[in-house]
Amino acid sequence: QWIYLDGEFVTKEEAKVSVYDHGFLYGDGIFEGIRIYDGNIFKCHEHLVRLYDSAKSIMLNIPLTIEEMQDALVETIRRNGLRDGYIRLVVSRGAGNLGLDPNRCPKASVIIIVEQLAIYPEEAYKNGLRAVSVAERRNIPDALNPKIKSLNYLNNILVKIKANLADVGEAIMLNAQGYVTEGSGDNIFIIKKGVVYTPPCYLGALEGITRNAIIDICKEQGFTVKEEPFSMHDVYVADEVFFTGTAAEVIAAREIDGRIVGNGQAGPITLQLLDKFRQIVSQDGVK
Ligand code: PLP
Repeated sequence: QWIYLDGEFVTKEEAKVSVYDHGFLYGDGIFEGIRIYDGNIFKCHEHLVRLYDSAKSIMLNIPLTIEEMQDALVETIRRNGLRDGYIRLVVSRGAGNLGLDPNRCPKASVIIIVEQLAIYPEEAYKNGLRAVSVAERRNIPDALNPKIKSLNYLNNILVKIKANLADVGEAIMLNAQGYVTEGSGDNIFIIKKGVVYTPPCYLGALEGITRNAIIDICKEQGFTVKEEPFSMHDVYVADEVFFTGTAAEVIAAREIDGRIVGNGQAGPITLQLLDKFRQIVSQDGVK
C-alpha cells in the first residue's frame, strides 16, 4: 500500500506526521472521504470543491491547485492498483510549535490514503440499522460551521460512543432547538406518505455529497423532496428512515429509540434509491 505524503509515495509503515503537526495537536485541518467505484472517483469535483471551500473558510493554504490535487488522487489510486475502494484525503495545517498560532506552521501537509473499504454487511442494507438519538448537539453555524469538514470530530466520536453503548449502528444528532440534523457521520432522510424529507444544512449538518446525489435521484424518480426542519417525533412516525454517506451509501434505519420504523426492515423507497445510486456511482466522476 502506497500513501501520498506531501508529494512523496511512502509505505504505510513510513507514513508518519510530526508530533508538532497542528492537525494532531489541535484538530487544525480538513478532510474528505471519497469512493472509487470501478475505477471512477465518484463526484471527485464536488469533493474537491468542498475541500477547497473548507480550506478557504479556515484560511488554510493548500499547497496544490485543485487540478494538481486531482492528479495526486489519480496517481495514488493507480499506484495502489485499486478499482474499488475509499480515499481519505487529509490536509492539516502542518507542523508548527506548541502555540495555537497557525502562522507558525509554514506549510500545510497533504495526505492521501487509499484503501479497500470495510462497509456494512450487505444484510444491513436489507434489514436496516438500529439507531438512537443523543443529547450531544450538533455544532451550529455560529460556532464551527458544519459546512467545514474539519478534523474536529470529537463531538461525532462522543455520539458514536453513545451508539456503541446502546449497541446500535448509528446515532442521530439534534441541534440546540431540538431539530434533527444528521447522524454521527451521515446525513438523514425520512419518508412520509411518499414525500422525502431531509433537514436543511443550515440547521447544523454537513452538506453531504451523497445527500445531494440522493436528492437528485429522488427528483429524477419523481419524488417530492422537501428540505425542511423536523423533530424526533417525525422520525418516529416516518414510513421510512435512512442515512446517506460516502462510506454507508444509503442505509435504512429499522428501529430508532426503540420505535420500529415502518415494517421493521429497509423500506421500498429506500431500496429503490439505493439501487439507483449504485447504478450511477461508476459514471459520475473522474476516471
Ligand atoms: N455528515 C457528517 C458529519 C459526515 O462526516 C459525513 C461524511 O462525510 C456526512 C454527513 C456524509 O457526507 P458525504 O455524503 O459527503 O460523505
